Amino acid sequence: MLWKLFLAVCVSSVLRGTLCSTASLRRANDGGGRCLYTFTVPSPVEHSCPEPAAEQELRRQGALQRTEMEALQTRLGLMEALVSRLAGPGGAGGQGRGLEAAYSATMREKTELQRERDRLEAERQELQSRVDRLGQENSRLRLGQCGPSATPLRNSDKRPPDGSSLDYSSPGFQEFKSEVTEVRASSLLPSPAPTHSDNTDTDPPSCGELVWVGEPESHRKADSISGKYGVWMQDPEPVHPYGPEMTWRLDAVGSTVRQLFGYEDRKQLSRGFPSKVLLLPESVESTGAVVYRGSLYYQRRKSRTLLRYDLRTESVAARRELPHAGFHGQYPYSWGGYTDIDLAVDETGLWAIYSTSKAKGAIVLSRLDPDSLEVLHSWETSVRKQSVANAFVICGTLYTVASYTTPNTTVNYSYSTESGHGRALSIPFLNRYRYNSMIDYNPARRQLFSWDNYHMVTYDVRLGTV
Ligand code: CA
Repeated sequence: MLWKLFLAVCVSSVLRGTLCSTASLRRANDGGGRCLYTFTVPSPVEHSCPEPAAEQELRRQGALQRTEMEALQTRLGLMEALVSRLAGPGGAGGQGRGLEAAYSATMREKTELQRERDRLEAERQELQSRVDRLGQENSRLRLGQCGPSATPLRNSDKRPPDGSSLDYSSPGFQEFKSEVTEVRASSLLPSPAPTHSDNTDTDPPSCGELVWVGEPESHRKADSISGKYGVWMQDPEPVHPYGPEMTWRLDAVGSTVRQLFGYEDRKQLSRGFPSKVLLLPESVESTGAVVYRGSLYYQRRKSRTLLRYDLRTESVAARRELPHAGFHGQYPYSWGGYTDIDLAVDETGLWAIYSTSKAKGAIVLSRLDPDSLEVLHSWETSVRKQSVANAFVICGTLYTVASYTTPNTTVNYSYSTESGHGRALSIPFLNRYRYNSMIDYNPARRQLFSWDNYHMVTYDVRLGTV
């Protein structure tokens, strides 16, 4: 009977989820000749009762799921906050507009950084130019202190083969000589200066030697550091769609000079806004570019490659290396600025003014084929390129200017390609703004175009009879 009761309790315990093995049966003698059976079953409500393993696992998984759910809710909250922020205060436009706004802000920052970089590069180049200028002035002062007072140095051994009296042994000498030999224009020219600021209606003048340069007339002052030096010009032989009044300008400060600005005429240049902006396919080096017969001719940056850029088709029409030409600071003019290759136009065609290692830094003048850029003929002068400020060609004769910074300087040398001889000159030339970085001749206007310390200026010139 008791056994049956014990089994019943066991079955009942199993049904309630407890284990039979946890029950215990004890038998004892009660001292009265009777057996006493005692059994013990753990109560399911007691904490000491072990839980089934499956339930423990479920409880553990439940806890894990709760943790994961809480983590998901946290992440969802963060994403909602991000979407809300990107969508902006109005909430319209959604995430796309938010991303677009963030992208635009990033691009604006990038543009600002690029501008800042260009500005710093311009400042660096300007400082470099100042260092160069101070070095030259230092050399000039040493010459003045060590040589005979106010007497041009002469050295017959170093006299040019053409018989001129200039000494080209010192880079600073041209500038020094200019200061001690300059005379006023009035003492050279008894007749009044010609006045023709816009003389395109007149017949092409006959050729002759340069005898007089007028005072500079400023047409425009550049309004940013990128225009401290540059090149500006009008085409002496324009090609449709551009006429003779069309005026072109390149600001040359900076490492990537590619924007060519076009103005309807000089008045528009003075007013400010270009009517045409062309982006050149390759960067320009320095201030030696010219416009001629409907094309811009220029030296590609960091190379001796010349490019002919057709202004009508807005594409490169020809390219060719200028054989053996120094570039990127090898043979610049005295003011520096990577003015190694200076192109020029005169009544007779297109020219390149440069130097080579064979010429040991002396100016080489080459006539170029305007279509192919091929060198047709070359002349080697005795003038060191680094000893002069700039050069231009009139009627097949090369002229150099002594100083780019001395206000009252001179056109101090000429070299005739017809005779193959050079000679010293002393024609007064005024650097009104004291930092002249470009001088070119325009045969149609019979004027010099120049860029002097932010100022785009012209000089009238007068030619003598041959
Ligand atoms: Ca020039």
